[in-house]
Amino acid sequence: MRILRTTQAIRTWQHRQNAHKTSIGFVPTMGALHDGHRSLIARARKSCDTVVVSIFVNPLQFEPSDDFGHYPRDLSKDLTMCRKEKADAVFIPQWQDLYPHEFQTTVTVNKLSQRWEGEHRPTHFQGVTTIVTKLLNLVQPSQTFFGQKDYQQFLVIRQLVKDLELDAKLTLCPTIRDADGLALSSRNQYLLPAQRQQALLLYQALLSGKQAIKKGERRARVVEKHMAAIFEAKHQSHIDYLVCCEAKTLEPISRVQSNTVLLGALRIGAIRLIDNLVISVRE
Ligand code: AMP
Repeated sequence: MRILRTTQAIRTWQHRQNAHKTSIGFVPTMGALHDGHRSLIARARKSCDTVVVSIFVNPLQFEPSDDFGHYPRDLSKDLTMCRKEKADAVFIPQWQDLYPHEFQTTVTVNKLSQRWEGEHRPTHFQGVTTIVTKLLNLVQPSQTFFGQKDYQQFLVIRQLVKDLELDAKLTLCPTIRDADGLALSSRNQYLLPAQRQQALLLYQALLSGKQAIKKGERRARVVEKHMAAIFEAKHQSHIDYLVCCEAKTLEPISRVQSNTVLLGALRIGAIRLIDNLVISVRE
């Protein structure tokens, strides 16, 4: 497995793959890899000739109040997983290389970035779309793999690719969960046992919304009330949002439609977790 530490190294590697007409599967990550990331690498392995994983804790996508300094990092464990999953290359850039002193260009997807996560983390998606643009330019992958756990992020990136005519094929892969339903996240390792129980309520709330829809409820506000009820009398966590919206635009809806997504974000102490369920309904 090649370890590429500079933008020059990934360019040279990319040109070599291109010369051999090799299809490149790309999995961008911030490291602290878990089975969710593993599933993306495995999926890329299945679909493409060669697989490259990037590991970069992107400072641009953290708000000043976010946990950039405390974001989990464990490079040797990450490399072991990449090797085990038969990645061909791992790109581990230094932030000074990607954002040199004179760096001054950012990429913004306007409307979609402003909702939900964007309301709570106003510069987050600009950081995401800027780094993804840079990575897609460097890697020039045939296919790039993302997890549904970050559903809004996927839609924002899809919009970016469409609006800027980027030649990129994006593949959305299912959310991987622990046996009890908690969506895997690099931040989960910071949850104390009691906090983990709180975190689990997010998935239970989404399931309760799904159940209400399954039983025939179509009023979005009522579905949202079902979800919020799961948290009643639990004061240790704070809901940033827990909503029922249209699955492509993420606009709030008054009635559940054929493509609906339930989105939630929760703060437990300093830890922030997100999750979602996409629901297809026959109207
Ligand atoms: P991150 O390292 O958190 O930036 O995530 C890198 C990629 O892994 C993103 O496409 C995420 O959506 C995806 N991912 C993170 N957690 C999961 C999960 N539990 N299941 C599937 N994909 C995930």
